[in-house]
Amino acid sequence: MELWYTEEHTPTVRFSIKVRKHILSKKSPFQQIDVFDSEEFGRFFTLDGLMMVTEKDEFIYHEMIVHVPMASNLSIKKALVIGGGDGGTVRELTRYGAIEHVDMVDIDEMVVNICREYLPFTSSALGDARVHLHFEDGLKFIRSRENFYDLIIVDSTDPFGPGEGLFTREFYGNCHKALAENGILVNQHENPYYESYALSMQRAHSRIKEFFPVCGVYQAHIPTYPSGHWLFGFASKKIDPRGDLRADAWNALGITTRYYNTDLHAGAFMLPNYVKDLLNRA
Ligand code: SAM
Repeated sequence: MELWYTEEHTPTVRFSIKVRKHILSKKSPFQQIDVFDSEEFGRFFTLDGLMMVTEKDEFIYHEMIVHVPMASNLSIKKALVIGGGDGGTVRELTRYGAIEHVDMVDIDEMVVNICREYLPFTSSALGDARVHLHFEDGLKFIRSRENFYDLIIVDSTDPFGPGEGLFTREFYGNCHKALAENGILVNQHENPYYESYALSMQRAHSRIKEFFPVCGVYQAHIPTYPSGHWLFGFASKKIDPRGDLRADAWNALGITTRYYNTDLHAGAFMLPNYVKDLLNRA
């Protein structure tokens, strides 16, 4: 008998991966958590039936969500990751010697425990002495923070279920307040290709724009996410991700990457016309 993991990307489009083994299935107070093994993508995990991380392509997402802001301001010392329970974002952040303090706030401790046990390739740096784990709603955590972080990364689920609050005006306003003068906010920004995702993307963009003078979008190709075309939001109080990129200085750090490089950094902000149009109309 064949076992397949199938995800609905739209009501009429499905994406499937042949499964070698369904390793774990658990329900937390917040969501359904599943871990699978597969031939093509290695180990992968899903929340509420939606793909979060695969062993084969997670490097693309985690490198792009971290190195684009880090290379835009090499003085970043204090970072906050909201969501990110698999640990991949924290892993990339801890590769920088300049990073002194990382708070990671995930609503669901069970996700973190499961990833520590079953996804060692993403969770390897969660025990780093600079990393502080908090298990609470990111929407609440951010309310009491002021003028503290150099970088906030929102590595969340989609804008429904527990992640809904992380796409609200209240949340983005509080992120602005929690950031220091040179602060940067990066968030996973959905895909522009399928209508329901594109609407979420437009909504997020128009809300972030209300608070941040610099507000852009960059892209990456992530094969296991809907449409494969994924966007990230880059907002800041003053840092310009292209103008402030110091490519030579970043390359001198000697951080080895498989997807990110400083040429691609600039190119990632060059968007197709239909995406520009969606953003202009947001
Ligand atoms: N790379 C992934 C993606 O875009 O599919 C996101 C991965 S990460 C596992 C998402 C994390 O966000 C989950 O661990 C989930 O528990 C967490 N999360 C969802 N809503 C949250 C909230 N309101 N506050 C903090 N963490 C939240």
